[in-house]
Amino acid sequence: MAVNRRTLRLIAGMRLSIDTTVDKAVTDLIAAWGTAWNEVAGEWQDALADLVAASTDGKWPSRTQIRRADRARRALAVTRDSLDQLTKDFGVRVVQDLTPLADDAAQWEARLIHSQMPRGAADVAAFDRIDQRALEAVVERAAGRVTSLAKPLSRQAEAAMKSTLIRGVAVGDNPRKAASTMLRRVQGQFEGGRNRALVIARTEMLDAHRAAAYAQDQANKATVAQWQWVAQLDRRTCPSCWAKHGTTYPLIEPGPEDHQQGRCARVPVTKSWRDLGFDIDEPPSLLPDAKATFDGLPEADQVAIMGKARLGLLKAGHVGWDDLTAKRTTTGWRDSWAPRPTRDLLRLANAS
Ligand SMILES: [Zn+2]
Repeated sequence: MAVNRRTLRLIAGMRLSIDTTVDKAVTDLIAAWGTAWNEVAGEWQDALADLVAASTDGKWPSRTQIRRADRARRALAVTRDSLDQLTKDFGVRVVQDLTPLADDAAQWEARLIHSQMPRGAADVAAFDRIDQRALEAVVERAAGRVTSLAKPLSRQAEAAMKSTLIRGVAVGDNPRKAASTMLRRVQGQFEGGRNRALVIARTEMLDAHRAAAYAQDQANKATVAQWQWVAQLDRRTCPSCWAKHGTTYPLIEPGPEDHQQGRCARVPVTKSWRDLGFDIDEPPSLLPDAKATFDGLPEADQVAIMGKARLGLLKAGHVGWDDLTAKRTTTGWRDSWAPRPTRDLLRLANAS
């Protein structure tokens, strides 16, 4: 059990490598939705101009009028096709990254294991076996999830656009303003579909990486004793992940069960050197302690991470460090650990 400087460097490298892959996919998805919107925006401009013109007494046309409006129907039909294509392309784009991502995860896990061996120990290959079939199963499972999660995206976005259209806006005596407000709202619903797609992409890619790391750990039971939850200790990291950082788990346990879009890593911790047959004293783990790191941050950073109320409860000792995280159950998804809401912390503080 010796997370050392090399291990820490590898963890940083691994994080950068995942981020680069995920960010690239996110950029591509944003570009695809942007292009698609530009292609349908003209139809919407025409359709909305028609509806504004059809309004009487400054009131948005009725549901029936909208249903009969040719251009609005056309805009919706064109958008439906566009959304269907986007959703299909989305699945392909994300799934394409899963195999390299899983392979990378296994390689990083191997390097993380090897980094904890005494200097001069045999090379990486001696400690690490990769179970190719397990990795393929990880990819298969993740691909299935991405495809099934993507399926309702286009219908949801279409329904949201339709209901925005029917709800309408007060036209009043400024028709041009009404038309542009409506265009923005409709675009917002279109982009809502994109935002859901981005959450799915980030979440499933990161989870596939962790699942591959899990598979790699199982293949190396002889060397690895347990795994450790490692967060990036910075301002972007939420209270839950700060609290989880450094906690250890049996090898057989999957995880980290991070919240959606969470970036925490599964880091293998090897057996002691003596257990592995090296007759050498082992240096202590250099993994930074989350609480000590947090206490050393400037107050502005502490507030940015926790928020004022939560930080106050923590500093006053009304809640403990471990109280910051809570298990959350989400239908259609695995359980996850997320920040315990401040109101729950207040209840906890009052109860004690
Ligand atoms: Zn978090």
